[in-house]
Amino acid sequence: MKYAITGGAGFIGSHLTDRLLSEGHKVIVIDNLITGNFNNIAHHQNNQNFEFIHHNVSNHMHIIGEIDWVVHFASPASPVDYLQLSIETLKVNSLGTHNTLGLARVKSAKYLLASTSEVYGDPEIHPQPETYWGNVNPIGPRGVYDESKRFAEAITMAYYNKHDLDTRIVRIFNCYGPRLRINDGRVVSNLISQALENKPLTVYGDGSQTRSFQYVSDLVEGIVRLMQTDYHLPVNLGNPQERTILELAKLIKELTNSQSEIVLQPLPIDDPKRRLPDISVAKKLLKWEPKKDLVAGLKETIAWYQQQLTAVAK
Ligand code: UDP
Repeated sequence: MKYAITGGAGFIGSHLTDRLLSEGHKVIVIDNLITGNFNNIAHHQNNQNFEFIHHNVSNHMHIIGEIDWVVHFASPASPVDYLQLSIETLKVNSLGTHNTLGLARVKSAKYLLASTSEVYGDPEIHPQPETYWGNVNPIGPRGVYDESKRFAEAITMAYYNKHDLDTRIVRIFNCYGPRLRINDGRVVSNLISQALENKPLTVYGDGSQTRSFQYVSDLVEGIVRLMQTDYHLPVNLGNPQERTILELAKLIKELTNSQSEIVLQPLPIDDPKRRLPDISVAKKLLKWEPKKDLVAGLKETIAWYQQQLTAVAK
């Protein structure tokens, strides 16, 4: 099979690229590298099944040859990134989704959209099943991501209904692991790099807000399984173990043996108070549930950050 993966040089996209190439598929990564990093895929440079196209998918694209799957992962995904890159984020999830759907249509390819738990906003239903419509502030700072991902889901469903495009939608809950950029601003990358550098661990608000963290290999497994079904409605992929952010900070401090103190900083506007996936659909449809427990996943992630920080120091 030949896959075109937008955002394939990013955190999740590059792990999916690794997995598909390891199974003997062909992969074209399309990325403009504004938040992605070529180092994430550089190890495939000499692989004949791999191709890299430096392109912003918010602009029209033309790709020569057959493609079996278009997989749309391109988008800033950290709150810090999408606040800074607000217009780029709106464009890649609206124009970029339109362009990639068009690419899939012209190639008679299947299509997978990387959506997000952010479509649920600051949820009033807990845990969040796929049937929940969400609680999003369209004009708040996070609206640029949340609303554009909601639009991306809507246009994907429209292509499914109107053009019979064979589509999938995955709603990805908080994910972590190697290649999550050190300075990307998300909680796991911030806390681990701060702990390793003995800087204060920044917990926003009082740290009682919750998230559920899945390791990247679990997510990739779920995505691959979803592609093997013909299910076109959204599917939550996430870890059903809920943690407060303060608990996470204490755990990272312990696992890194860090001397850092935990400091409380202001909570960002519209920061969701609780987030927990209902994964009943994934369990039934994909026979999937996360395997990696948080301590084991954090240990692997910490080891990767240690390597990165040592390499920078040299
Ligand atoms: N957070 C924190 N300290 C940080 C970065 C984030 O306490 O240095 C909090 C943030 O306010 C949110 C949670 O951790 O409540 C998860 O934030 P992240 O940016 O990783 O992703 P989100 O789930 O909000 O999209």
